[in-house]
Amino acid sequence: MIPLAKPDIGAKEIKGVVDVLESGILSLGPKLKEFEQQFSAIIGTSFAVGVNSGTSGLHLCIKALGIKDGDEVITTPFSFVASANCILYERATPVFVDVEEDTFNINPDLIEKAITPRTKAILIVHVFGQSCDMDKIMEIARKHNLKVIEDACEALFGSYRGRNVGTFGDVAVFAFYPNKQITTGEGGMIVTDNKQIADYCRSAANQGRSSNLQWLTHDIIGYNYRLDEMSCALGLAQLSRIDTISGKRKTIAERYIRELSSIPGLVLPKVYPGSPSGWFVFAVRTRAAIRDHVIRKLQEKGIQSKAYFYPCIHLQPAYIQLFGYREGMFPVAEKLSKETMVLPFYTALEEKDILVVKQALAESIMELQG
Ligand SMILES: *Cc1c(COP(=O)(O)O)cnc(C)c1O
Repeated sequence: MIPLAKPDIGAKEIKGVVDVLESGILSLGPKLKEFEQQFSAIIGTSFAVGVNSGTSGLHLCIKALGIKDGDEVITTPFSFVASANCILYERATPVFVDVEEDTFNINPDLIEKAITPRTKAILIVHVFGQSCDMDKIMEIARKHNLKVIEDACEALFGSYRGRNVGTFGDVAVFAFYPNKQITTGEGGMIVTDNKQIADYCRSAANQGRSSNLQWLTHDIIGYNYRLDEMSCALGLAQLSRIDTISGKRKTIAERYIRELSSIPGLVLPKVYPGSPSGWFVFAVRTRAAIRDHVIRKLQEKGIQSKAYFYPCIHLQPAYIQLFGYREGMFPVAEKLSKETMVLPFYTALEEKDILVVKQALAESIMELQG
């Protein structure tokens, strides 16, 4: 059986977590500070705030920017549902803009048409680890005085023209669920250069406590979005090996591209050498008519693969019910959601596994085309 994803957990991770357990300090201890400091240094932002998931992080970004009932936030329909849900948590409205076929990312040329007097922010998603077109997006944001939130939950190790994703917008969020580039079990990190945003998020994640007041003084209505010390120790161990982890993932992606390029009818991810992907998943496209059959055939051969992202956010049952969205509203995103599947992708994936996946893909596509 070749799984879709597998966290890279070694002796360092295990020791780190055990050390925390033995220390007796399981939350709000030194590991959180250390993890935040190292993470912000790696990304290149002034501040980082650890939270218990990427979704919690995105929710706090929406709150920190003062987005509320009646406001609109421009975002993408081709993403994991959390990137739009976080807008709904504050009763603001996600306004979807269709995506570009090559990058899977929001199409900057369609953003301005979606701006109204109620628009407060653009929430972009660096889908599958590939950066959005940040020059164009930041220019539009500046021109219309809009905030920018980067959902970088899939994009650790991704960069745009020499600069890490997560350093462009007002605030950004990374995530550490076990299928991401690095994991803390559950967890996320908010990064920003804005001290006010960082202070708000740190307090709101910890029940609205202020850092310099007493434990039971609550300045604002907050949440329990805290990242525990075991998770932070796990994250620190992962950070100590990020060069190895990112290097392996890049090598596997390159190997996939070399091996799979000979399969007719398979569209491979486009590579942008000046803005390298963070390689969250390895996503390929087939004709929509055969995608689900290919997934089934691979499953029969012991290879996990998955339709990604299907359906689009606007066509999720909850969104149809709330907003009455219909098929055809965001044609590029819908097309991609019917054609795209992700293949097994993790640091322990061996060359022989890649060849097994290649063989199975080639056979099943041939059978189904034939
Ligand atoms: C993983 C992910 C998140 C956050 O996920 P959590 O499971 O809450 O950590 C948010 N947005 C996108 C696009 C993601 O892929």
